[in-house]
Amino acid sequence: MTKPIVINIDQVTKIFRMGDNVLRALDNVTLQVEEGDFVAIVGPSGSGKSTLMNMIGLLDVPDTGSISIAGHSVCGLSDDELCGLRADSIGFVFQQFNLLSRTSAVENVGLPMLYSGVPYDLKWAHKILAAVGLTTHAAHTPSQLSGGQQQRVAIARALVNKPHVLLADEPTGNLDSQSEREILDILVQLNRGGITVVIVTHEQEVTQIANRVIKMRDGKITSDERQTPQYLDGMKSLDQSNNASLQLYDNGIPAKDTGSKALLRKVKSYTSEALRSLTSNKIRSFLSVLGIMIGVAAVIAVLGLGEGARKTMEKELSGLGSNLLAVYPGGSGRGMGGGGGSNPIRLFPEDIAALKAELEHVTEIAPRVNSKAMVQFEEKTWNTSITGTTSDYAKLRASMPDIGRNFTKGEDDARARVAILGRTVVKNLFGDKDPIGSEFKLNRLYFQVIGLLPAKGSNGWQDQDDVIIIPLATAMHRVFGFENIHMVDVQVDTSEHMSDVEGQIKSILQQRKKIPDAKMEDAFTVRNMADIQAAISSTNKIMSLLLSIIASISLLVGGIGVMNIMLVSVTERTREIGLRKALGAKKSDILSQFLVEALLLAILGGALGVAVGWGISAVAAAVTNWPFEVSPTVVALVTGVTALVGIIFGFWPAKKAAALQPIQALKYE
Ligand code: ADP
Repeated sequence: MTKPIVINIDQVTKIFRMGDNVLRALDNVTLQVEEGDFVAIVGPSGSGKSTLMNMIGLLDVPDTGSISIAGHSVCGLSDDELCGLRADSIGFVFQQFNLLSRTSAVENVGLPMLYSGVPYDLKWAHKILAAVGLTTHAAHTPSQLSGGQQQRVAIARALVNKPHVLLADEPTGNLDSQSEREILDILVQLNRGGITVVIVTHEQEVTQIANRVIKMRDGKITSDERQTPQYLDGMKSLDQSNNASLQLYDNGIPAKDTGSKALLRKVKSYTSEALRSLTSNKIRSFLSVLGIMIGVAAVIAVLGLGEGARKTMEKELSGLGSNLLAVYPGGSGRGMGGGGGSNPIRLFPEDIAALKAELEHVTEIAPRVNSKAMVQFEEKTWNTSITGTTSDYAKLRASMPDIGRNFTKGEDDARARVAILGRTVVKNLFGDKDPIGSEFKLNRLYFQVIGLLPAKGSNGWQDQDDVIIIPLATAMHRVFGFENIHMVDVQVDTSEHMSDVEGQIKSILQQRKKIPDAKMEDAFTVRNMADIQAAISSTNKIMSLLLSIIASISLLVGGIGVMNIMLVSVTERTREIGLRKALGAKKSDILSQFLVEALLLAILGGALGVAVGWGISAVAAAVTNWPFEVSPTVVALVTGVTALVGIIFGFWPAKKAAALQPIQALKYE
């Protein structure tokens, strides 16, 4: 009965061109291998043995001729289809073992399962490893194994998907003679168990164990003979009574799983593989993510502090009173405090009285004057801002004394010499003493301290606690000799009436001061505090935009760093990529593996950046006394963006890796 043909090579030619040299590595080779054959291919170096093996192993394609493996014609198959056929039908054993160096023996054995689609079952890998005589070394990495043991691992790996054909290219070339015998024993037993074996060797002796010997020279088969196998000294198979065979597949191999389960398994494996690769090059990985880290840290710190500053400012502005209008002489460009300009009006107490009488929807009106003065208590002097205002001011500006009391309308009318002090003034004038009731000197007049303003802190440009408040009439007539009011605060009952009251103020003042329409702009300003809030929030928006631009640039630079290191990694691991492809990895598998690695790098950089940025914000906040706030949204956004950077910048290196041809990659030194 004729046995089925597993390998059919029909008139295959492979030509290599090196400049003008044309080399026929395979010259019209025809060969059929039956199921269960043990074929040894021999011949001098350069005769085309490895090239023929690569053809059988679907690692290389012929220039002419056709190949079919286990009944599948290879002709016209896509790269991925070739990978699938390779993963299912062919097991490779190389002279160099080609094990993944950082991976344990059993995981090396399990590697092809990842690509063939069977569940990644390490128990099965253990079983195969035990079958080739390695039970106690499963957890060892290749560097902890002898050459013979490494080759056993490589054979186990070749068997894990139950191939039809086992291809071994000089499998014992790197081994001492005892290990050689052990490996050959395994091959013989596997063959007895039903696997077709094709072995390339240059050792005449080894050919004796085959039942068929093919000799090659100059790319041609020069002889092809069948023989009775003879076992070598030291081989267990020599003992004819020991007819041991390796029946690995009695229980069948695990069924393939597909869809989301297979994907999940791959992602898991790529992640652990990527983590291994990143941790084995810790410093390099760290340096490569430095760019991303710095960018993200800067964004987190600035946004965190910016958000804190914004909140503080909002709080302060709301402390000023939200329905507040400030009226002062001069155009809006002159700033608060007014004066100057081409035609500023002068506000007098009668104007304030008129406003009080005529305005509707207004709860409080507080006129004031501002100046600077030197104050003195005992030996200490201090230069500070003086605000002269009415007793209503405290309600409008959240300035009700929290220690002592506010002055009364009677005291204002009587031009009393009473004062309410900000905390900075207290500190500089009185130190730790209780100032209430004390008298201090202001412009040669003695004032009595009756209250202390609540501490307000800095509003970013001035210390709001460095101020003394005295009655308006006292300030105008006793201290400074002002005739006119510098500014009026008007509190409106509800926010809907703001613009209405603004209009009323304008028309009352225009009438009283007889201002022509054209001069209104320069005459006085009514500032809506809500406008200031809007201005601040628009400044905030511009800041955020600028920050985003800076962040994008730093992430771009960081991304290039990641890409650079990934390119280095692809070059370094060319052989590994070749091996994975030989074991059945598709383009998409390699692409995903490197993408996952780039993604992990970027996320690592992002995570470090968040931590560092957080730390910087916390320290800066502690030093400046500003609150900071890192919102979860910002962290989520930053993580998302860095992940995207990883994918975008990892794509090119990953694509480069995926495009490598297995045979060239395997030969890469
Ligand atoms: P063997 O395995 O019998 O030593 P090979 O099959 O490796 O021989 O090589 C056969 C011939 O083809 C050799 O002369 C070798 O130099 C040449 N060859 C193999 N691969 C390449 C290649 N990628 N480019 C150019 N020449 C090659």
